[in-house]
Amino acid sequence: MSDNHDYDLIVIGAGSGGVRLARMSAQRGVKVAVIESRYLGGTCVNVGCVPKKLFVYGSHMGEDIEDAGGYGWSVPKDQIRFDWPTLVANKNTEIERLNGIYRRLLEGAGVTIIEGTAALVDPHTVAVGDRKLSARHITIATGSWPVTPDIPGKECILTSNEMFYLPQLPRTAVVWGGGYIAVEFAGILAGLGVETTLLYRGELFLRGFDEDIRSFMADEMRKKGVDLRFGVTIDSVSSEGASYSIALSDGSQMTTGLVMAATGRRALVDGLNLEELGVQLSSAGHVVVDDHFQTEVPSITALGDLIGTPQLTPVALGQAMVLSRRLFGDGEGTMDYTCIPTAVFCQPNIGTVGLTEEEARKSYGKLRIYRTAFKPMKHTLSGRDERSLMKLVVEDSTDRVLGAHMVGPDAGEIVQGLAVAMKAGATKAHFDCTLGVHPTSAEEFVTMREAVSSD
Ligand code: NDP
Repeated sequence: MSDNHDYDLIVIGAGSGGVRLARMSAQRGVKVAVIESRYLGGTCVNVGCVPKKLFVYGSHMGEDIEDAGGYGWSVPKDQIRFDWPTLVANKNTEIERLNGIYRRLLEGAGVTIIEGTAALVDPHTVAVGDRKLSARHITIATGSWPVTPDIPGKECILTSNEMFYLPQLPRTAVVWGGGYIAVEFAGILAGLGVETTLLYRGELFLRGFDEDIRSFMADEMRKKGVDLRFGVTIDSVSSEGASYSIALSDGSQMTTGLVMAATGRRALVDGLNLEELGVQLSSAGHVVVDDHFQTEVPSITALGDLIGTPQLTPVALGQAMVLSRRLFGDGEGTMDYTCIPTAVFCQPNIGTVGLTEEEARKSYGKLRIYRTAFKPMKHTLSGRDERSLMKLVVEDSTDRVLGAHMVGPDAGEIVQGLAVAMKAGATKAHFDCTLGVHPTSAEEFVTMREAVSSD
């Protein structure tokens, strides 16, 4: 079936999307190789979703220990210890276990794993060191890499990549940016006792999320001691012994023990020779593909973080399923990008699916907005001043639920189920006639009766 090529498919990059594509395709009976230069599992497993969530758990345990007091546990403050190297070492062990699982999954499916850096030679040939390998189809799945703005002292600034292997926690830290990674890491650091400042250039962080969620989250993070400073950015950084001096855009200076940039991620296509072969890149540096993940070169496809679609693991996994079916199955199906549920693992979590109120107002007529904010039951006895927010955006004429948004513990877990309902076209009447699970926070999503606005 390989038409005189070594393989039917060569996948460059063994991250979430690449591994899924390689496995699914091999299971369809074709000959597949995956080339990886760094680590099996990509960003998600090694320096992204998985270690981040382990750090979030670790960070939140400090609060849990404090909260236990209200439930009768005595936990003397002077006996509480936290050891960062233990958390990092245990995290590393878990990541190595997952790397092994990825290897076994690929090998079990009959995929050849090639370790090395790939460069395209022609539309059907890839070079890995001295080796040349040919394939009927080549898929670029090399993912993305953190970008740090080009300012004086850039070399002093860490990114999420290095944060996962930090040898010691500083006493103070500055996180630069206002997206997913910035708020998640600001929460992790603050929870671990680091005096944390988050600097964001705009008026309010988490651009693209519902306005209510953004302002509610800012209040909750401030309550947890994160110093949020908006409307300011970093002009330069310089190293002063063990600390860093930062010049801010408002003319002020600050000193800190660590500077981390979480200012976006770019497509990682360096050295692949894509443009030389005629694969087009967008002005933002993304690989340009059509709805079928096809680049300008017929034998070359691309998926995942580098094609400009939402940089989320489940998106890459979904794309891989569609592409495998297209290349080696019945060819049917396209990727549906509507109603992508997502969570930000800040503390408390954000969970969201569907349209924000602001997006819905642009495309729909009259809306009904349902909103509730409350103290979660757990904190009645813990005494912690933490609140949750839930919000539904409903199209008045059809009663269709267009968006569901939450700030609160386990918000990511809760919106997953709502995403199924919304994908199935649930109306507010469906939510109303669904019985709650009592006593939970999630039940508020089916008990909000009065719209707070209807216009
Ligand atoms: P985001 O794109 O989410 O956020 C980047 C932030 O940096 C924005 O606040 C942006 O500001 C700011 N920024 C960009 N350029 C500059 C600059 N030159 N100077 C100052 N500030 C700047 O990127 P992240 O790095 O946080 O994360 C990348 C992606 O990874 C996310 O978009 C998400 O798709 C994914 N991810 C998902 C997670 C999850 O599912 N839980 C967790 C972590 C990452 P502005 O808003 O003004 O543009």
